[in-house]
Amino acid sequence: MSPLALPNSLWAATAEAPPEATSLDDQVNVDVAIVGAGFNGLRAALVLAEAGKKVAVVDAGEIGWGASGRNGGQVNPIGHESPETIRNRWGNRYGNDMVDRYTRFISDSADSLFELARNHHIHCDAEQNGWIRAVHGNAAIKPFEELYQGWTDAGSELRLIDKEELSALSGTEGYLLGWVAPQGGSIQPLSFARGLAHAAKAAGANLYSQTHVEKLIPSKQGGWQLASKRGLVTADQVLLCTNGYTDKLFPGIRETIVPVVSIQAATAPLTEHQNAHILPDRHTFADTRRVIFYFRKTADNRLVFGSAGTGDELPNNNDRQRIKTGLKTVFPRLPDLTIDYIWGGRIAVTQDHLPHIHNPAPGLYTALGCNGRGVALSTAMGRLLADLTLGRDPESLPIPITQPRPYPFHRFHRIGIKIAVPWKQFCDNREVTRE
Ligand SMILES: Cc1cc2nc3c(=O)[nH]c(=O)nc-3n(C[C@H](O)[C@H](O)[C@H](O)COP(=O)(O)OP(=O)(O)OC[C@H]3O[C@@H](n4cnc5c(N)ncnc54)[C@H](O)[C@@H]3O)c2cc1C
Repeated sequence: MSPLALPNSLWAATAEAPPEATSLDDQVNVDVAIVGAGFNGLRAALVLAEAGKKVAVVDAGEIGWGASGRNGGQVNPIGHESPETIRNRWGNRYGNDMVDRYTRFISDSADSLFELARNHHIHCDAEQNGWIRAVHGNAAIKPFEELYQGWTDAGSELRLIDKEELSALSGTEGYLLGWVAPQGGSIQPLSFARGLAHAAKAAGANLYSQTHVEKLIPSKQGGWQLASKRGLVTADQVLLCTNGYTDKLFPGIRETIVPVVSIQAATAPLTEHQNAHILPDRHTFADTRRVIFYFRKTADNRLVFGSAGTGDELPNNNDRQRIKTGLKTVFPRLPDLTIDYIWGGRIAVTQDHLPHIHNPAPGLYTALGCNGRGVALSTAMGRLLADLTLGRDPESLPIPITQPRPYPFHRFHRIGIKIAVPWKQFCDNREVTRE
């Protein structure tokens, strides 16, 4: 397998066809060059092409090769941090209006994604049946309730559910309480990425795949040059839409995130009985564990179940075992489910668990740090990047433009993750058994 082929995932096996995209072996001149053909870059390209801009999207792999073609497809409208925490971090610096815009932006992000899919006739098995978030142990109740209260006060629609209802809606009895966010839902993520790419291309964007941008050079006349092995893009402005796959292309950006691997498995289609019992109303599900368990059903009634990995994106036996253990933990009465596909990808984790937009040089913007909630968020941030290049006042954004802040000891992140994941898992397990 070539390193930049799509992973052997359920999504790659079942996605809608991609639009034609060739590698770049020419010189092109555009208004805006976009590095990264995931939700973020493709959404930006769509907005810009529709606004009449000449756009080139360049990806080192295929369209949707990064996290966008690998994720759980859960369209989740609530952030990790409470509005109060965000107010404490951003309020003094950027004003409370910014915080209010952010909470609205996040709360609306799921609806916006489904609307986008509908408006562009994107076939991606979109289902908006709601997202369940479930509490795994007593220690998680207080922060969960604070998050619930904060987001509800900020106007998000959330419904608390007790253990009994949670059990009926999920098919597992292992949780204490939860919420349902009715705007949440699911998509086939690679189909969605490809659908966005079709729409962007139809609007006039140029798509280049299998083209690693190796150098980003400011030109003397203003603007940028993006050099790959065999091609060159000259652009007035550049958007770095590389999230968890950010490399050294522009100094200081890679160090602002830690790429944490998440592993997912797709089971064989559930039996009729299992299907009736697990997520009968076809919600999506994620829990409050530090080393999260999340799952959903697919159009053909498989269970796609995910959790954190400790190593590489290419899952090893250890990862397979962790997924099996996770399935057994959540569904102890189910017989062992056959795993038909298992794959991994990178999540971009930031120090404050908030997304960031940076403008580290004139005409260069990046949006990254979706912390595992980027299906709706990254798509929505693509629009913000496009708006910025179209001249939108940064003060009116729902996310502030911040200085890139590197993680301390970033170069040791791999070893950090190897230590942190088992430790966090130990803490999660201890909380469950202490109930
Ligand atoms: C396994 C997994 C499960 C997840 N599940 C969920 C979920 O259920 N719900 C949710 O909300 N979020 C989920 N996420 C997170 C979500 O997938 C991401 O936040 C989102 O897809 C990020 O999109 P993006 O466009 O910003 O980045 P990506 O889709 O990662 O795209 C970045 C692209 O940049 C390209 N690139 C990088 N450097 C270069 C370069 N120098 N030259 C050319 N190209 C370059 C890469 O090839 C890549 O394709 C999950 C992530 C993973 C990995």
